[in-house]
Amino acid sequence: MIVFDLLCGVGHRFEGWFGSAKAFASQKERGLLTCPTCGSSKVERIPSASRVNLGAPEPKAPKAPAQPAKTPDMEGKDPFAIAQMLYSRMLDELLTKTEDVGKEFPAKARRIFYKQDPVRAIRGQATEQEHDDLVDEGIPVARLPVPPPERLN
Ligand SMILES: [Zn+2]
Repeated sequence: MIVFDLLCGVGHRFEGWFGSAKAFASQKERGLLTCPTCGSSKVERIPSASRVNLGAPEPKAPKAPAQPAKTPDMEGKDPFAIAQMLYSRMLDELLTKTEDVGKEFPAKARRIFYKQDPVRAIRGQATEQEHDDLVDEGIPVARLPVPPPERLN
């Protein structure tokens, strides 16, 4: 069964139940449809929003999982190449933004930490023992791979 909203020529609005849209057309054709209020056979079907089948509500599109930020030049590269690129960039950063103090590193790091020297980022060499002593004193130092010689100029 389907339900149609109907309107007579005078403006009475009513519902009609039909076996099918075809049955409605047929009954209308033969003048069998009449307004229950005034008996008019001038009946038209009116569109009714309330009967429009909107179907199941659209499933909400799942949010795209957050993609890790990638820079375009990393796209499609294998992880090893990316690691090398990052290492290379880190070196650039390190070499351009730090002062090379060479073997003076432990002494300089200590002086900077205790504010006896202007605060700045330095790099240099330290032995295992010197490194451990600095760490023990709470001086923030990071051990990094020694850059290839061609990067040091
Ligand atoms: Zn009527």
